Amino acid sequence: MMGEPVKSKFIKLSDRVKIRKEYFGGVLFNMDTGDIIDVDREAFTVLSIIKHNELVNMDALLDMPITYKGKRINSGNIKGVIFRLADMGIIDVMPNGILSKHYRKPFQDKNLIKIKWPAHEHLSAPETVHWAVTYKCGEACPDCYIERHKSLFTKELDTQAAFNLISKIADSGVFQLAIGGGEPLMRSDLEDIVQRASEKGLVVHITTGKYEIESQRLDVLAKYIKTIQIGIRTDELINGNISTGEKLRALVTQLNERSIITGANLIMTRSSIHNFDRIIEMLVSSGFKRYTLLRYKPPNNVKRWLQEKPNQQDLELLEERLMVMQEMHTDISFRIDCALSFLERRLNPQTALYSGIRGCVAGERIISITPDGSVYPCSQLVRDIFKAGNLLNEDYKCIWYRSNVLKKYRNFREKKCFKNSSCGKCQAKLFCGGCRVFAEDAIGFDLGCPGPVCGSNFIDDEYDVIADIQDTIGYTDGGFPYATRDEIEKWLEEGTNKDYPSWINNG
Ligand code: SF4
Ligand code: SF4
Repeated sequence: MMGEPVKSKFIKLSDRVKIRKEYFGGVLFNMDTGDIIDVDREAFTVLSIIKHNELVNMDALLDMPITYKGKRINSGNIKGVIFRLADMGIIDVMPNGILSKHYRKPFQDKNLIKIKWPAHEHLSAPETVHWAVTYKCGEACPDCYIERHKSLFTKELDTQAAFNLISKIADSGVFQLAIGGGEPLMRSDLEDIVQRASEKGLVVHITTGKYEIESQRLDVLAKYIKTIQIGIRTDELINGNISTGEKLRALVTQLNERSIITGANLIMTRSSIHNFDRIIEMLVSSGFKRYTLLRYKPPNNVKRWLQEKPNQQDLELLEERLMVMQEMHTDISFRIDCALSFLERRLNPQTALYSGIRGCVAGERIISITPDGSVYPCSQLVRDIFKAGNLLNEDYKCIWYRSNVLKKYRNFREKKCFKNSSCGKCQAKLFCGGCRVFAEDAIGFDLGCPGPVCGSNFIDDEYDVIADIQDTIGYTDGGFPYATRDEIEKWLEEGTNKDYPSWINNG
């Protein structure tokens, strides 16, 4: 017999959302938008009840004695959480009407669940794993950082070993797998790899430098991947290479036809910043709508690095052009690489964290895997001293929970050399912190930062770079700096390779 029509509002957790319990509450992942949201324990408790009950009558939920730390959670708070999460597509509000009996379970005490919170104060798994499936590549782009570590890895995993690695990652609760290289399309088993990853529940993204991809390959990839990021060689666009624009237009059309979300990765060298408008206009006319701006990381060629590394004025120009382009093209979106978080340093910390800006997340929200299965805190920190383990022959949990390297990087903001640096004293440290790659010791001050933020004002004018370097080098017990002001001034004047992070040469 059909039941009575149900008039009240019903809500459910979206089928496209994964939730993961964490020490502070939980992390929510929207598989459609890629949004990742942290929620506190109260909100996570409410969400867990909704998930547990599948479909929930909102009025009944508000009447429930949901408790946290022995106190009943205020129904106004619960309502607020639900409305916010509904706005974000985390919770679906079902239309009123007749619902099947199956969903009309009365709320009883058994529907209340008891959550045991993790004891460790870090995430239970990274959100995203970056995996360079190969370092092979047919190109030799001058600004590619991979050349730095290519010679360290001659081995890459075969298909079966790649499947084992995927299982370990997926079973640990990771949400996304970002596959890159080298050139991932050089692997003939890439389709098998993405299929396995997708079937294991991972949302898969690919980064490629190829402008031409065979239709048959795209047909298969389209079934299993969410996005393709195209690494754009901006120098070709600056030189007005017409065939580049045409190839890109054809590629974007192919990808759109297969509903693969397409993005352009742009390395922010000096030249790309000075030609930013021109590059964006050309890419817009090729059909790109999503742009990821990547910081220029040190390539192998130090001379090239010194020539192309943006200075403070270049970065200010980038901020300005970014705003102009965003206003001119309201249908395109820009995403900023974690290493460029200082571009948003003027934000109020609460707004930044609420907007999901987290700055350096090495070893915490991301980890990186090299072609041989070795694990590092980030794809930029690849060297023996940064190695956390190898997923081929080690247990995932053992690496994630016990590796000292991962512990060091996920807690870098607590390290003395960071705290004493300008980054450590900066108002933006929680949602920026600088990129570890640009710190002399791969922990402290980001030497490429346009300037720390103090209170609500910039302190560029008062920023004393010599004192900062003295702080980094340290002092004798009597309080005298190991390096005098004269010595440091001389180093700065030499204008040699000092801005090229020394750990890269020394490691
Ligand atoms: S070291 Fe940190 S900021 Fe730099 S690229 Fe890696 S995760 Fe991003
Ligand atoms: S000083 Fe460090 S934390 Fe502050 S904006 Fe610059 S890089 Fe970011």
